[in-house]
Amino acid sequence: MSDHYERVKIELQQMKEVESEAAADVEQLSPASVSSVPTDVSFTARRDLSRSSINGRSRSKSRSKADGYERQVNAKQLSDLTQQKSDYAQGQSRVSNEPDLTIKGTARLLKGKTAANGHVESCQRQTEGKCEDHGKEDGKCKVAAKKRRTVTVDTSKAKTSLEALKMSIRQLKWKEFPMGRRTACDIYWHGVSFHDNENIVSGQVNKFPGMIEMLRKINLSRAVRTMQELFPEEYNFYPRSWILPEEYQLFSTQIRLLKDNDATLKPTFIVKPDSGSQGDGIYLIRDPADLRAISGSQIKQAVVQEYIQKPLLIDKLKFDIRLYVLVRSLEPLEIYIAKEGLSRFCTEPYQEPSQKNLSHVFMHLTNYSLNVHSGNFVHSDSCSTGSKRTFSSVLYRLASKGVDIKKVWSDIIALVIKTVIALVPELKVYYQADIPPGKPGPTCFQILGFDILLMKNLKPVLLEVNANPSMRIEHEQEVSPGVFEYVPSPVDEEVKVGVIRDTLRLMDPAQRKQHVTSNTGGGSPEEAIVVETGSDEKEGLADSLPSLCLKQVFPKYTKQFNYLRVVERIAVIFLRFLGVKGTMRLGPTGFRTFIRRVISSCSSAVRAWNCKLSNSSFSMASVDILYIDITRRWAGMLPDSREAGKRPTNHDAIYSTSSLPRPTHNQKAVKQPPIKDTLATIHHSAFPLAYSRMCLQAFIEAFFYLAARRSKALPLREQVLLLLEVCEGALEGQSHSEKPRPHRSHTTTNPASSQSSAPTTFSSPALTRRRHRPLQLSAKANTEN
Ligand code: ADP
Repeated sequence: MSDHYERVKIELQQMKEVESEAAADVEQLSPASVSSVPTDVSFTARRDLSRSSINGRSRSKSRSKADGYERQVNAKQLSDLTQQKSDYAQGQSRVSNEPDLTIKGTARLLKGKTAANGHVESCQRQTEGKCEDHGKEDGKCKVAAKKRRTVTVDTSKAKTSLEALKMSIRQLKWKEFPMGRRTACDIYWHGVSFHDNENIVSGQVNKFPGMIEMLRKINLSRAVRTMQELFPEEYNFYPRSWILPEEYQLFSTQIRLLKDNDATLKPTFIVKPDSGSQGDGIYLIRDPADLRAISGSQIKQAVVQEYIQKPLLIDKLKFDIRLYVLVRSLEPLEIYIAKEGLSRFCTEPYQEPSQKNLSHVFMHLTNYSLNVHSGNFVHSDSCSTGSKRTFSSVLYRLASKGVDIKKVWSDIIALVIKTVIALVPELKVYYQADIPPGKPGPTCFQILGFDILLMKNLKPVLLEVNANPSMRIEHEQEVSPGVFEYVPSPVDEEVKVGVIRDTLRLMDPAQRKQHVTSNTGGGSPEEAIVVETGSDEKEGLADSLPSLCLKQVFPKYTKQFNYLRVVERIAVIFLRFLGVKGTMRLGPTGFRTFIRRVISSCSSAVRAWNCKLSNSSFSMASVDILYIDITRRWAGMLPDSREAGKRPTNHDAIYSTSSLPRPTHNQKAVKQPPIKDTLATIHHSAFPLAYSRMCLQAFIEAFFYLAARRSKALPLREQVLLLLEVCEGALEGQSHSEKPRPHRSHTTTNPASSQSSAPTTFSSPALTRRRHRPLQLSAKANTEN
């Protein structure tokens, strides 16, 4: 124990030192920004330069990489205390730099982080504690451990997450199959997508079908926008965005009108290619006309977004936050957030955008992959200094300045839950298409990388979500001129190994079977910050490992966020009417059936309640016109289309992140005319029904239209909720007369089809589907960042 006290003493000393350091003026430049290199080349040029120089380097794998891994916790170390002590001594300098502190009510949050990566000393403490606590029961524990079947993991497709994954598996004493396995594994770890391994019929895969597609910039923007239409205040954490090229005119006109109204307005916009990552192809503009000047008449598929001009700075540097989020299941929806994340710093002091600095990539873009090539980039062995740090070290810094970090965390948790809620409807459609109900298949989970920016007023803003966040725990370093080696990155290891290991722990098949989500109500996101993960330990997950670094936030906060799951309810109706055709799109017959069975055959009570859609003014001919019009517009969202996807958006109240004024009533008039106007003019004979079928987004648009038609005077959200009630009521009535489906075990049940805790009252049909993915797929998609 004397070692332990010695360590506490050192930590306290460190605490004081870090505290006084943090109290120093935050506006002082860090070493990262002391020397400055000219960065006034264009983004693309700079990137190219960086790339070519890297490509030309001779790369040699560093010995120290292997040495670094030796320092990590593994199964052997866990049972070998002598070894642990020497390991601890080696790791001392790193650990002592971490602000494992008790400050301003953040104690437990910050305390939790040291456990994130199963550092030797924390494992040791826990192991020792267990021995003391359990005493005589030790023998029993060993018997129980022996009885437990070893969990098997197929790591053959893990790609760049392999090293962190291997370490995690070692810590868990699970069995790895690096070359795959002829018989089934419990867990399949894929580096890119659900389809990395085909023909998996059981177990669990660490990717959801469709996640890559959904997290491409345009699709994410669309999903959030749909939610903004219904809940503008709740979804104001996403910057105002326009989809290019189809909304170029809208973008151009809106900004012109805004500038006409206020000549002092100097907005900046960031243009992000749809399938780009790592800052690739991103540039800033100050006027819509610049877009034309840069890309000519052929504007590529991209999102143009309001640039957040006043980010929070530390040491005068812009930074962003990478948070790891585990979607453990879609049905029921389960979300976990890693208590520790990364903060990635720019390497040139920030200035608000001006024509002069617009192309200063190291000033405006926080991407690690870009800044690592700046002469100012600081690799650090400490988690609280350098150009890549732990998020808790940043929080600590902010707390020492009096910032209410509990509020910051609670806002971030809300942002994460709301974003996942926006993605779920479409993900359920993908899921059902890929893992048809009634057929054996795996279940899925996925670690997502949320990129979040804090504004100067501490409001978190969502930048993007990565389907394949980099899980590399090493970085390239120039050890001598021109010689680059991969060396372990302590900060990455600290965060990422914990995230992977604890994801595995949560997906342990034995645990999953037992898992009953007991916490489905009270509390607030704010409480999540201060409540430790004791529940996980109660569940018996911990064994000799540190407490979980992943914190459940959903269903924990169901009460606060479930009301947002409106589009998901529409998706459930959509899935129900997809029929047996096995597509992700609804055919005209399915749409007609939906109208006939749900809309037109409202119960008499509903009809009495002014169900206008059931009267003759909405004939089947109108239904077909509606179907064709909307389907054609959404089918037009192919790369060279100019006409698709212009559903009017409620821009009011969406943009509290925005420095731009909200559009006035007149400005809104530049949007597309409502559907009913186009219905009158459309000539459909030229458009064969078979040309395209209705995707979920188009169905949602049709649903909104139908809802608005029923109850014109109400706000959209009310309209939609009323129609949903009618639909669900009608379907519930019908499903009572249908035979109940047999319930299947968790490991083979399609979450999209099981509606046990979905925010609706009826289940989708047990239909067998053939695999078909009509939405555009991109090979590159959302690659590692
Ligand atoms: P990528 O997938 O290419 O990394 P991101 O959307 O993450 O694209 O943007 C790259 C970087 O640009 C972010 O890390 C952030 O620093 C900056 N950035 C992106 N969007 C905005 C914005 N709306 N306002 C300010 N900075 C932004």
